[in-house]
Amino acid sequence: MLDACYSTSAVQTAVDLANTLKPIKGEDELETVEQLGGFLDGHSPAGTAQPQRRLTPADLAEVREVRETVRSVLERAGTDPVGAAALINDGLRRGRATPALRHEHDRWWTEVTSDTDRCSAHLAATTLSALASVIATLGPARLGVCAGPKCRSTFVDLSRNGSKQYCTRACAHRASVAAYRSRRTSS
Ligand SMILES: [Zn+2]
Repeated sequence: MLDACYSTSAVQTAVDLANTLKPIKGEDELETVEQLGGFLDGHSPAGTAQPQRRLTPADLAEVREVRETVRSVLERAGTDPVGAAALINDGLRRGRATPALRHEHDRWWTEVTSDTDRCSAHLAATTLSALASVIATLGPARLGVCAGPKCRSTFVDLSRNGSKQYCTRACAHRASVAAYRSRRTSS
């Protein structure tokens, strides 16, 4: 039943947004307006492909700011949940996040949008409210940063047991191979 409390696609959008920055590799996949357009196209909720007005460098700058907030929330929630909550609340306020009740084909659901026309504000409202719902239903420890030594990707653990440490299986595998090799060389 908990699944009904948050949108998994909005949670994924938050994680994907944060991970457009790869701090260890020094790569940034959100440096141009074209990259922003690609990200938004790939993450618009099903059925809501709203006619995008032309994206501008201002949109890019604003979305990069939202990314910084989302990434900080994902990084801090486990160790400083009060600080993460303050970031979420501030971000929701600045994005003028507005809850709305929707109805389509006999189904009712709530979503959080923004009452502005800024794509950054919509992104902030969607992603931060999704992370807020995960924290409220599963706890702040479900947000985290990959334990891989060469990876700082963020993740949200929606699994039943909540024991995720790595962003992906590939990353967990790399870490276990590295640990095995270092045990062999040290013995
Ligand atoms: Zn990783």
